[in-house]
Amino acid sequence: MKVFFYCVDTDARENGEHEVHRTDCALGPEDKIALGPFPSCFEAVQAARRHYRKVNGCQYCCAECYRIYTAATPPAKS
Ligand SMILES: [Zn+2]
Repeated sequence: MKVFFYCVDTDARENGEHEVHRTDCALGPEDKIALGPFPSCFEAVQAARRHYRKVNGCQYCCAECYRIYTAATPPAKS
């Protein structure tokens, strides 16, 4: 089974989300936490959620996980 290595951006976006990327993603962040190898972005997003509450898949390298997790997360109270 082919696996990819994933990481999560340590800098949150304006909306407070931390993006999960494959380490070979052209849009991968400079400051990141390595998550390890996973068979799909779904597992990587779950692993990233141990670090950050608001996590989203990268639109490009993790398109299957883009927006699906945050949609299930109630918006944070500000
Ligand atoms: Zn990416």
